[in-house]
Amino acid sequence: MTSTAGVVVVGGGQAAFSVVSTLRASGYDAPVTVFAAEHHLPYQRPPLSKKAHTEPEGLRVELVPESFYRERNIDLRLGDDVVALDTAAATVVSRTGARVPYAHLVLATGARNRPLPVPGAELDGVHALRSLDDALTIGRALTTARDVVVVGGGFIGLELARVALARGARVTVVELADRLLSRAVSPELELPLRERHEHAGLQVLTGTGVRALEGPGRLDRVVTDREHLAADLVVYGIGAIPRDDLAREAGLAVDDGVVVDEQLRSVTDPRISAVGDCARHPHPHAEGPVRLESVQNAIDQGTLVGRRIAGSPASYESLPWFWSDQGDLKLQIAGLRSPADEVRLVPGDSPERLAGYAFRDGLLVAVETLNWPAEHLAARRLLERRTPVSAGDLAGTTLGALARARRAAEVRA
Ligand SMILES: Cc1cc2nc3c(=O)[nH]c(=O)nc-3n(C[C@H](O)[C@H](O)[C@H](O)COP(=O)(O)OP(=O)(O)OC[C@H]3O[C@@H](n4cnc5c(N)ncnc54)[C@H](O)[C@@H]3O)c2cc1C
Repeated sequence: MTSTAGVVVVGGGQAAFSVVSTLRASGYDAPVTVFAAEHHLPYQRPPLSKKAHTEPEGLRVELVPESFYRERNIDLRLGDDVVALDTAAATVVSRTGARVPYAHLVLATGARNRPLPVPGAELDGVHALRSLDDALTIGRALTTARDVVVVGGGFIGLELARVALARGARVTVVELADRLLSRAVSPELELPLRERHEHAGLQVLTGTGVRALEGPGRLDRVVTDREHLAADLVVYGIGAIPRDDLAREAGLAVDDGVVVDEQLRSVTDPRISAVGDCARHPHPHAEGPVRLESVQNAIDQGTLVGRRIAGSPASYESLPWFWSDQGDLKLQIAGLRSPADEVRLVPGDSPERLAGYAFRDGLLVAVETLNWPAEHLAARRLLERRTPVSAGDLAGTTLGALARARRAAEVRA
């Protein structure tokens, strides 16, 4: 380590912000440099797919003002992406030619959208959503769009579909799998979720592939393997690919994400960490190494790495949780479900509330809720504490009621 080398962070998103704010909050006083490819201050992405229609001229999403970085002596280099890592010299090289040495390097490069592999994907009127600039473009397009086709029935697709519906467009969701949210939500919960979307006015075509997008220069229809759909706007969200190319080119272990250990250090080079969407890591709640795409994961991993570099090492064990707002539906997930887990649907105390409890070997491992934040919070508390909850414990009751009963029993004891 040279006297001038400190921490270099590559990426200017949620995870990068979490690393650098934690470093300074933990008393780390060596140089901190952030290379951020985008020209915007680090910002949060969840509003992009939920508010694109209400604030098409300017979403206010930055995490903190520019003064935050200045006052903490964080060298934030916006609009300059790192193009190479020289791990032998412990130096990063940026597009503008900057060479910055590091004592520790953190990769927080996030993910990029999977491209839509069909003819016509480059036509005017076809968009993917990842960045603030994308959201502004889509928000403007939504002010005039009449027929919107959303390709992909995942979180971002469904959020945008409901946004487009709220703007008064006719909206069709086209999903290749035979159900919506097939990677993320149990089939048991998907069914009522789909019914509610259809009731709100979405047309949902599952088990349907898109073959081509067509139009004379500008898009005017979507050719699926079932029918042709009129469209003046297509938005696609068909998954994300981790931005792990820098790591791969530098010879670090990569497997759909930078492979890190339980302290989030590269398994190849302990002077390098990876956090957020670009990291594949072991997790006590998972059956094998996982790569998670969520705000919770980005924040908690950044915090853990910031604290470790500042002198307080720990293993990454945070309970995974996630939310998605799709029109009037708030979907929340706590824990990690596997396809083989048994899911029991439990109605809430009002018709719009619903929970799905997922059990593995008879024990609760994950909870999905619709419009039921209190039950989600109860689930988080119980799963975080690793309190065993059996299917029998939950017979005829809810997690909220069970947690209250257990607390009362603790007080009496
Ligand atoms: C539209 C949308 C809605 C979402 N909604 C939710 C939600 O409701 N709930 C939830 O939990 N999660 C949601 N997510 C996911 C969540 O936003 C991500 O998991 C989170 O942002 C990951 O943070 P990150 O820092 O790892 O990556 P990012 O936030 O993607 O940041 C990575 C940054 O690194 C930059 N970068 C990449 N390579 C380089 C390089 N070589 N040099 C310099 N910079 C580089 C990128 O330009 C990018 O700005 C949503 C994501 C999107 C796109």
